[in-house]
Amino acid sequence: MAQVAQLPIIEHYSAYKPRPFTREQRADTTILYGGLTWKHERMMQGALHNLKYKAEPLPNIAREDLDAGKELIDTGACCPTIFTTGSLVNFLKKEVKEHGKEEVNKKFVYLTAGACGPCRFGQYHESYAMALDGLGLRDFRLFLLAQDELDQGPGAGGGLDINMAMSLGLIWSILCGDLVTDLEYATRPYEANKGQTELVLRDVVEQMYELFLHRPDRGKKYGTMAWHLMSNYFTKALREVRKKWDAIEVDHLRVKAKVKITGEFWLQTHEGEGNYNIKRWLESEGAEVIPPPVAVWLDYLMHPDVRIREHRAKPSRKKLMKESLMRNLEKVYKASYNRFRKALGNIPYELPDQLELRALANPFYHYELSGGEGHMLVGKALYAYHHKKAHMVCELTPYSCMPNTMSVGSMANVLGKYPDLLYAPIEIKGDAEVHALSRCQMILTEAKRRAQSEFESVLAKLGVTVEDVRRHESKHPEVRRASYRVPHMGYAGTAANYVTHLVATGKIKGGRVAESAAAAAMVL
Ligand code: SF4
Repeated sequence: MAQVAQLPIIEHYSAYKPRPFTREQRADTTILYGGLTWKHERMMQGALHNLKYKAEPLPNIAREDLDAGKELIDTGACCPTIFTTGSLVNFLKKEVKEHGKEEVNKKFVYLTAGACGPCRFGQYHESYAMALDGLGLRDFRLFLLAQDELDQGPGAGGGLDINMAMSLGLIWSILCGDLVTDLEYATRPYEANKGQTELVLRDVVEQMYELFLHRPDRGKKYGTMAWHLMSNYFTKALREVRKKWDAIEVDHLRVKAKVKITGEFWLQTHEGEGNYNIKRWLESEGAEVIPPPVAVWLDYLMHPDVRIREHRAKPSRKKLMKESLMRNLEKVYKASYNRFRKALGNIPYELPDQLELRALANPFYHYELSGGEGHMLVGKALYAYHHKKAHMVCELTPYSCMPNTMSVGSMANVLGKYPDLLYAPIEIKGDAEVHALSRCQMILTEAKRRAQSEFESVLAKLGVTVEDVRRHESKHPEVRRASYRVPHMGYAGTAANYVTHLVATGKIKGGRVAESAAAAAMVL
């Protein structure tokens, strides 16, 4: 009888599926999350604690996370995927060492944002699953928080109920995190007493944590939505924040190059070793940074549904209703953001109009090319340029990121048309700091030169001196408070806007009457 060859046993791929997380386990299970700044994450923690979840943000990304991620996921992954996977891996390794695998599988679940789409963002969870396999933690549970659904309902087991109260709590904490971050970056470069901004910031973030922790329960669906949109609970607290901010003394006559940060979502938001701490580094080199709010990204995500009509010759009634709902939702979303800004004296930046970003980017990058930040990178650079919001744009591009590589390519075309747009595309690999920062420094040197000459030309044009401003400040110390808003008067630099604003509002007399009157007309 012929011998039958022994065939190798093939283990087929099976997609990761988390074990259920039951309601009974909620009290003893900690939800891990991460990916934003410590300010956003602390406020999100308040929102989760409010709903009686145990929740902990992962430690801030460190250089070692890159190595841990590289060991366990595919080598071609983009740098944010490697960093964030490595961060989870390092945390779990430490916990396994202390408590053992079984305990870690029981004690923690990981909650991460998920989406589908052409870039690796849609595959993040697969990388996490791959890393869990590598660690022998296949039983560890990770869950996706879809970005396009506010009410996903309870997941398997009911331990995690992604309902309206949770989604709005998280979104509102993200908006407040953005606004406080804007305040921070508009203040720190000008603080008269080094370290004061950080002190007040810590206090304010704790205050906001308490605010989210004690958020009243207004039901699971429309009641909670109406309350979030209409209540003065948040605006009252933000007015308190502004009062605390008033304690910080600033010197707005320091001439700083204003740098708008754009780039891939995670990399531009992150504050730490994942992007070489580039925002703090820019400040230490004499810049004022405009940080990128997560709120712009959320607005961007609404837009495909805002323009259903563009896709279909004959949209169904249901689709048209969805479009109209999303249009109204966007209006309400922006109105809420503006209410919060107002409570902070309008110091945080306004959200750019998505249609304007799209129109600006359109000749260079089509808005239907989704993935990453899509056309927004080109749109934001041109927005800052045309509206004179910054002297320079620094685009943080992750190593091995498909959408960002396309936008950097398109920017070559943009620069051909606008050669005086100062643009620094910085590729971030996580382990090539000197190269990235020195490249940024080259462009920053020119931005600083422009900021200085802009300031000098404003003084000359208005016929005022630094001494005139100092004299006014000594009699009116309120203009040296960080809660005092320096409005945009058509210049990129804060110092130039400050002097123009003081002259335009008649606070100091410009020597050149015609120019001062023209400046005053800008205020009206
Ligand atoms: S946008 Fe780029 S860096 Fe971000 S997840 Fe997608 S591929 Fe990775």
